[in-house]
Amino acid sequence: MPIRFRDITWPSGSRYWLLSARVPACLMTDSSGVAALADHDEGVVSVDLLIEDGKLARIEPQGNAHDDATQIDLGGRQVWPTLIDIHTHLDKGHTIERNPNVDGTFHSARLAATADRPNWTKPDLRRRMDFGLRCAYAHGVSAIRTHLDTYPETAERSWSVFREIREQWRGRIDIQAVSLCPIDILQDKFGDEVASIVARSGGLLGGVTRAALGNHGAPPANIDAMLDRLFALAGRYDLDIDLHVDETHDPTAATLPFIARAALRNGYRGRVVCGHCCSLAMQSAAEIDRTLDLLAQAEIAVVTLPTVNMYLQDRQKGRTPRWRGVTVVHEMLRRGIRVAAAGDNCRDSFYAYGDHDVVDTFRQSVRILHFDHPLGDAPALVGAMPSQIGQFEGHGRLSLRTPARLIVFNARTINEIVSRPQSDRQVIVHGEKLDAKAPEYAELWEAESVRDDAAAQVL
Ligand SMILES: [Zn+2]
Repeated sequence: MPIRFRDITWPSGSRYWLLSARVPACLMTDSSGVAALADHDEGVVSVDLLIEDGKLARIEPQGNAHDDATQIDLGGRQVWPTLIDIHTHLDKGHTIERNPNVDGTFHSARLAATADRPNWTKPDLRRRMDFGLRCAYAHGVSAIRTHLDTYPETAERSWSVFREIREQWRGRIDIQAVSLCPIDILQDKFGDEVASIVARSGGLLGGVTRAALGNHGAPPANIDAMLDRLFALAGRYDLDIDLHVDETHDPTAATLPFIARAALRNGYRGRVVCGHCCSLAMQSAAEIDRTLDLLAQAEIAVVTLPTVNMYLQDRQKGRTPRWRGVTVVHEMLRRGIRVAAAGDNCRDSFYAYGDHDVVDTFRQSVRILHFDHPLGDAPALVGAMPSQIGQFEGHGRLSLRTPARLIVFNARTINEIVSRPQSDRQVIVHGEKLDAKAPEYAELWEAESVRDDAAAQVL
């Protein structure tokens, strides 16, 4: 009888072996040479892992652990590196109750977010961002990129809270931030202010390739000039770029090829990430081909947000949706374009649900994107790919001599991971068992009632 999960004695001490671990080969760097041993249908390798002083010291083919360090037999269970959420909105998260989306559409989401932004005081941002990070940490996420709404009235406030929080979380979650606003408002001197704040904060320059006050649609006539301005701002401070692109079913929304050409024109090959790119899937095969050629040439990476796309896209009251809202992920990967999957919004007007749980994002992505039969490459979407795209060294892949940040699942196969929520997963951080739990919603109820009381006193 294999050992039961509940009977495993979790590690303590500075040196121990995890025996009989099964790791998807796509989540290993090949420095150990064992990834080539993957022989299972799911592309999984059976290994023994030596943890020493909080780091991954050795990765050996199963059965090769030969020394007297403590040995913990995992009975062939899956061990993954902690994962990466490369596209989130921590500043919007957990506003759903005070700021609901009235009909679940993109249009209403945008209006609701704008209406709520005046409530984003520093304490409010700190509380909700920290809540989101604690959820992510408990679920086994160790690296996050968040977009931050960056408008004249909120830019300094949001970015200063981000810098504070990044310091507080250093060593637990590596956090990157990207500025977010419609790219037309970067045209005047506010663009210089944004680029300067981003540069001072070690962030990325971002934006959404639609006009302010509008939804995603046909590219505006001056799109080339607007993009050249964005790239010039980025170039001045040597900033990488991460954009929200064509988040609609409308096939005329085709800013993606303009972005690729602008990247090539401005010497930004390999330094641009585009999120969403939904409308590409609604264009003709010939148009898709042409755009993918450009993406490959400009070495643009794409982040797909399957849960949020399926929620927002093709939504009309009283009508059953006909498509899943996601971009052409398989076709991109076949061209050698790097693609990651991420969580995007969490309990806000753009997405009413979520828990900053990348394992949940992974499980849903497999099903929404048909990323199965076989399943072997699927974990790369939330591990190796975002690690490479975001340069999150030591996250999302098992690498020798990096901090031992692991998720141990009570599952022998990727199929078992996709089939259950994995609520009993064990997270190991710097070699130690993590006891953190996702925070209770009650914390948010209390905060909202204090906020309401304060508002009542002002009145
Ligand atoms: Zn987003």
